[in-house]
Amino acid sequence: MKFEILASCPTTRARVARMTLNHGPTLLPTFMPVATQAALKGLTPQQTEALGVTLILNNTYHLNLRPGIKILDQAGGAHKFQGWRRNLLTDSGGFQLVSLSQFTQITEEGALFSSPYDGKPTMLTPEESIAIQHSIGADIIMQLDDVVSSLTTGPRVEEAMWRSIRWLDRCIKYHESKGRQDTQELFAIVQGGLDPKLREICVREMINRKENVGGYAVGGLSGGEAKDVFWKMISICAEKLPVDRPRYAMGIGFAEGTKLLDLLVCVALGIDMADCVFPTRTARFGVALTFRGPLNLRLKHHTTSLDTIEEDCPCPTCSSGTSRAILHHLVTVETAGAHALTQHNVVFQARLMGGAREAIFAGTFPAYLRSFFANYFGETGYPKWCVDALRSVGVDLLEGIPPAEVKVVDGQGMKWEYSES
Ligand SMILES: [Zn+2]
Repeated sequence: MKFEILASCPTTRARVARMTLNHGPTLLPTFMPVATQAALKGLTPQQTEALGVTLILNNTYHLNLRPGIKILDQAGGAHKFQGWRRNLLTDSGGFQLVSLSQFTQITEEGALFSSPYDGKPTMLTPEESIAIQHSIGADIIMQLDDVVSSLTTGPRVEEAMWRSIRWLDRCIKYHESKGRQDTQELFAIVQGGLDPKLREICVREMINRKENVGGYAVGGLSGGEAKDVFWKMISICAEKLPVDRPRYAMGIGFAEGTKLLDLLVCVALGIDMADCVFPTRTARFGVALTFRGPLNLRLKHHTTSLDTIEEDCPCPTCSSGTSRAILHHLVTVETAGAHALTQHNVVFQARLMGGAREAIFAGTFPAYLRSFFANYFGETGYPKWCVDALRSVGVDLLEGIPPAEVKVVDGQGMKWEYSES
């Protein structure tokens, strides 16, 4: 892997980098669309590539169940199996195992769980996780870590942190014994719960393994902890991790709409990569993302609108002039609505990050953050945690706003005009 820093923001910790992997270059910071079962919901791999996406995520747990390693080996890996020609990242499978299996038990050897096929006790060891990811052939693979919920407290958090370090060593050893380190980059995962001291110890230990890992992830967050604690943990890790390695915040783009903003805040704190299932998921519920906030095309008032979703959007849906009126029909009656909105949302996500990269190059990233948040939250109120997090890296979102007009709210911030249930 080649990792080159092309520009750094003089105020925040954001930077633009080019990460060249086995299937070409990817510019960072970036959001990775999630193709859980080797399929991005709503788009073909060819459509995804045509939109300019260069890095997606597959889930090891799901690929191991279906199609399974035998088929993946016959296909020559997951790229060929799914017809994807650009970069691919896989998780270790550990997170799904813990969250989906009722009977998972963590031992030093690995994670013991009941097989989803026959209920028999089955063990996923660090070595096996890497072996499965070798069969998948992803350009970036993740270590197996000992995952605990971010709401867990007490000695179990420290135990999981130290075990994750020992398991990293086993992953490195196995990975290198198979000679895969030139074609597949192994990423370490920093654990330590919500304890700043444990996070710092874990980062230090994992930096000691720097020569054997391609990059670092921050794991074990976004499990329901307070946002105020979330950003501080991200910040502690991102600040201390090596400058010359990519930094990946895991699983933070999940489900809720405002998580999109978590990602932008994380970029300012020094994060380069995040996965984000939200844009494709919400598209299937009829919601288009825009720079002024989400647009629920299921709502009746769109039936007479001849506007596109966003005037200056280059996505196939907007650039062809597709009206909100027909999109309302498509998302309420037809199946093509999901495709039309998914294309727009994936492009929105790429524009959000592309805009961030341009602003970092131009030295205007703080202004980019202020303008994005003003458009999104100017009327509903800025989430306090975003204001605090960005102040910690020298950006005041409220700068230039007359005090009488400043609105800051607790919690996530904006209310959503739609419901996914
Ligand atoms: Zn569009």
